[in-house]
Amino acid sequence: MRDQVIGKIREAGVVGAGGAGFPTHVKVAAAADTVIVNGAECEPLLRVDQQLMEFAAARIVAGLAAVMEATGAAEGVIALKGKHKGAIAALEAAAGKNMRLVILGDFYPAGDEHVLVHEAVGRLVPQGAIPLSVGCVVSNVETLLNAAAAQDGGAVTHSYVTVTGEVAQPVTLRLPIGTTVAAALALAGVERLEGLSVLDGGPMMGRLVADLGQPITKTTKGLVVLPAGHQIIRRRTMPVEALLKQAHAACIQCRYCTDLCPRYLLGHSLEPHKIMRGVKHIRGQEALLKMALACSECGVCEQYACPLGLSPRTINAALKQALAQQGLKAGAAPAGQCCSRTQAYRKIPVKRLITRTGLGGYDRPAPLDSRPLAVKRVELLLKQHIGAPSQPVVASGQRVRQGDLVARIPDGALGANLHASIAGVATVAADRIVITAPEGSGGR
Ligand code: SF4
Ligand code: SF4
Repeated sequence: MRDQVIGKIREAGVVGAGGAGFPTHVKVAAAADTVIVNGAECEPLLRVDQQLMEFAAARIVAGLAAVMEATGAAEGVIALKGKHKGAIAALEAAAGKNMRLVILGDFYPAGDEHVLVHEAVGRLVPQGAIPLSVGCVVSNVETLLNAAAAQDGGAVTHSYVTVTGEVAQPVTLRLPIGTTVAAALALAGVERLEGLSVLDGGPMMGRLVADLGQPITKTTKGLVVLPAGHQIIRRRTMPVEALLKQAHAACIQCRYCTDLCPRYLLGHSLEPHKIMRGVKHIRGQEALLKMALACSECGVCEQYACPLGLSPRTINAALKQALAQQGLKAGAAPAGQCCSRTQAYRKIPVKRLITRTGLGGYDRPAPLDSRPLAVKRVELLLKQHIGAPSQPVVASGQRVRQGDLVARIPDGALGANLHASIAGVATVAADRIVITAPEGSGGR
């Protein structure tokens, strides 16, 4: 039974929908005592998980039961915020007897896996380790929906995406994977983008979309449209060299960035104020700069804490890239890692975060619209997950139906299967499979 559950998740191409896209069949093949549903959805403005939990509670519980079966977990913990009352009522009604709800406060970043495990079950994940090291598997809400569909033979073909920000009417769409960002914005009613920029993801951790032809992937959760001059966009577009110069000239070592850093507060050896001091004198500071590897890039330091508008997160991200190229990984947990006594009082209220980041005018509902959309062309990236790119099993010119396998996991590799998200004719390129729907079919 357990092997069947895992096999169906593998066949369906399920990956972690809320993060980097780790293949779910590998994650759930490990033994754990607890499965935690990450329903925190802490990125301001995104509205996917809260609505799925309310409107598809029974399917999410079915997905949770499947992952519990796969991991052998005795308990399922559904962690979500108290403000989502509709979701709480729906999940309380749907939950099985070995499942319970944990109600979280409205703080950021409640969805960081290290923070969530601590909040939900009181265990401290060691620095540099994953929740499995303390017996937990953490699963995103949409991942569980996909795991439930997999048990019925369904494949991952769509992704739920909130389109919000500087738009007439924010909306959450169920988009065929491979829809371009430009097409997704048009489907959401965004007609003009002059003077605007788009983030792929939430305003705290999302990445600037450089090419509107970029496709939606299995992990896309939000498209946030903001004025090009918005403080969040300005920071994303500044070169790291300029941010370093700012740090040299202006950092006053007040250490607010460290005192509010969620990872520091969980006892990690990460002190961004020291990194800001260390980057002035890179030589001889390797040990100090290696701290950056423990950074989750949550953005609290630069978007909330720093009184001078400096950018420890972006500098950490650049350092992480440079250190990864040298093959360096985050160090082990400091001896006797323990949670700070002030951790409970230093959580960032989301309302205050929204005000401080200049997002107050954009904090609006984005109702779920699950109607099928007429998408006539999709570009399915062969690598939209952690691991090796999928290998095409279709040829150019071949007709495919929605849900057909078009690329599979290479033998012996970590990866994920890929399926056609619309019906049409395939064209195989080096890094993607393009599917074009015949005229008049709308891809369904
Ligand atoms: S909060 Fe800003 S000014 Fe203060 S130590 Fe951190 S980076 Fe420097
Ligand atoms: S982005 Fe800043 S606040 Fe967040 S984990 Fe990294 S150093 Fe800490």
